[in-house]
Amino acid sequence: MRQSQLFTKTRRNAPADEVAKNAELLIRAGFVHKEMAGVYSYLPLGLRTLNKIVEVIREEMNAVGGQELIMTALQDKELWSRTDRWDDEKVDNWFKTEFKSGGQTGLAITHEEPLTRIMSEYVSSYRDLPIFAYQFQNKFRNELRAKSGIMRGKEFLMKDMYSFAQDDAQHQELYAKARTAYVKTFERLGLGAHTYVTFASGGIFSPFSEEFQTISDSGEDTIYVDEEKKLAVNKEVLSDENLATLGLSRERLVEKKAIEVGNIFHLGTRFSEPLGLSYTDEEGKRRPVLMGCYGIGPSRIMGTIVEVFADEKGIVWPEAVAPFRLHLVALGKKGDDVTRYADELYDELSAHGASVLYDDRDLRAGEKFADSDLIGIPWRVIVGKDAAGSDLFEVVERASGETAKKTREEVLALATGRAA
Ligand code: ATP
Ligand code: MG
Repeated sequence: MRQSQLFTKTRRNAPADEVAKNAELLIRAGFVHKEMAGVYSYLPLGLRTLNKIVEVIREEMNAVGGQELIMTALQDKELWSRTDRWDDEKVDNWFKTEFKSGGQTGLAITHEEPLTRIMSEYVSSYRDLPIFAYQFQNKFRNELRAKSGIMRGKEFLMKDMYSFAQDDAQHQELYAKARTAYVKTFERLGLGAHTYVTFASGGIFSPFSEEFQTISDSGEDTIYVDEEKKLAVNKEVLSDENLATLGLSRERLVEKKAIEVGNIFHLGTRFSEPLGLSYTDEEGKRRPVLMGCYGIGPSRIMGTIVEVFADEKGIVWPEAVAPFRLHLVALGKKGDDVTRYADELYDELSAHGASVLYDDRDLRAGEKFADSDLIGIPWRVIVGKDAAGSDLFEVVERASGETAKKTREEVLALATGRAA
C-alpha cells in the first residue's frame, strides 16, 4: 500500500483525556480512533493488525476442531432469566434497551446462554458429542474503569469458544486441548515469554479458572509468579490453603502486575442444567452435557502488545501481527531517480505478494523516519541516493534498531516472510 493513499495521518498528540500508553500510541499512529471513553474504532492500520491477531487465534481454534459460527449481539431476556444472569443485581454490566414492540433486550456480555440453547436443538445422543464451537464477536460491557485504553473497551472483540462433553473424562480432554491451543496462540503472537497460566477465581465445579496473564506494569491485575514452574496465582485467590492445593510455595512467588489476555473455565452443568441441554448415553439414560468456556480478547491483546514492546520512539510490532512486514521509505522527490527506483522496487515486491507499506510521500527524511518508528513495522528499507543503482539496500530492524545492507533477494524474503 502506498502511504500517500492512506487516509490516516500520524499526529503529534493523543486526546488530552487519554491516559493509557497503548491508546495514546495507537491513536497517534492512526491505528484507532477514540469515539468516547472506552469506545474505539479500528482504522485501516488497526484493522489489519487486529485481523492478524484474529487469524492466528482462528487457526489454533480450528486446529483443535473448533467450528466457527457467529451469534447475535441482541439477547433474549427470558433466556438469561432462566440462568439468573439478567437481573442487574446479579450482573452489573449489561447495556439494556427496550424493543419498540414491547419488552427488553440487552447487548451480549458473553454467549453461554444462547449457544447452550442452540446446542439443545442439535445434541440428543452421546454420538453428537464432543463439540467445540467458537465465534469472534463484539461484546458489550458497561465497564466503569476506562484507564486502560483499548485493553478495556465497553465494546470489544472477543473470541469465545465453548466445549460440550458427555462426561468428566471427555470434558477434561477438551479442556486440555484448548489450554494447549491457548499456550500456542500466545507464543505465536509473540507474547509467550511474557505470559503465565494463572490460577484465578471463577471456577464452577472446580476450584479455579485459569487466566493467561501477560506481565506488564500497565496491568490491572496483581499476580504471584513461580518463574520455574511458569505458573502464577491471581491475588484474588492467594491463600495458604489454595497454595497448598496447587503445590506452590509462597517463598518462590514474585509479585507482578499483569494483563488478563485470556481466561478458560470449567462450567460443569451450570448452563446445561437450567437450559435443558442433555443427551442420551449408551445405556439410554438422559444426562446433562458438561461444558467449558474459553475466552480471549483480540483487541486487548493488540493493546497488550503495544504496552509490552513499545519504546520511546513508538510501537514495535512482532512480525506475526504487524499491519505490514516491511516499510519501504523512499528519500526522493516526485519524479527524481530515487523515487523512480523506489517505485520499481515497490512494484516488484508487490508482484511477489509482499506485505509492504510504501512511504512515497514528499516529506523530509526525518519526518518519514519518525512516522516509521511510531507505526512500528518490523523492517524498514531505506531507498536513498546511494541505493539507486547499487542494488544494496539499507535495512533497519525496528525492534533492535540494528542496520544492515541487504540484497534485493534478502529484501524480498523479509517482505514476504519466505526464505531468501
Ligand atoms: P476483566 O477481569 O479484565 O474485566 P473478565 O474476566 O471480565 O476481564 P472474561 O469474561 O474472562 O473477562 O473475558 C475473556 C477475555 O476477554 C479476557 O480474558 C480479555 O482478554 C477479554 N476482555 C474482557 N473484558 C474486556 C474489555 N472490557 N475490553 C477488551 N477485552 C476484554
Ligand atoms: Mg476473566
